[in-house]
Amino acid sequence: MKYCSHCGSQVADEAVICPNCGCKVEGGSSSNGSYSGISIVGFVLAFIMPIIGLIVSIVARNNAKRDGDTKSAGFAKAGIIISACLIAFAVLIYVIVFIGIIAAAGAAV
Ligand SMILES: [Zn+2]
Repeated sequence: MKYCSHCGSQVADEAVICPNCGCKVEGGSSSNGSYSGISIVGFVLAFIMPIIGLIVSIVARNNAKRDGDTKSAGFAKAGIIISACLIAFAVLIYVIVFIGIIAAAGAAV
């Protein structure tokens, strides 16, 4: 069971609308199988702009944890891991290219 964030009454896990006050029940995405919007944005950004994707995914994970949305939290965690891997990979490429330029410059002198 979960609790309505508006009136505090018990609501069935699969309920989207609170039967007591009629308000939309927060954290319902954990039961209807969809991910929160921000976790999807973070995941997509992880591939396009990993640094921003990492930040958005961290925010999404914190929001999902606060709302008890374990599914979105897990998805956001995947976004964090992918972002971190791509950032590490980009840094590695940058270092290799940088060393290459230094080596080329050294050879040219
Ligand atoms: Zn309610």
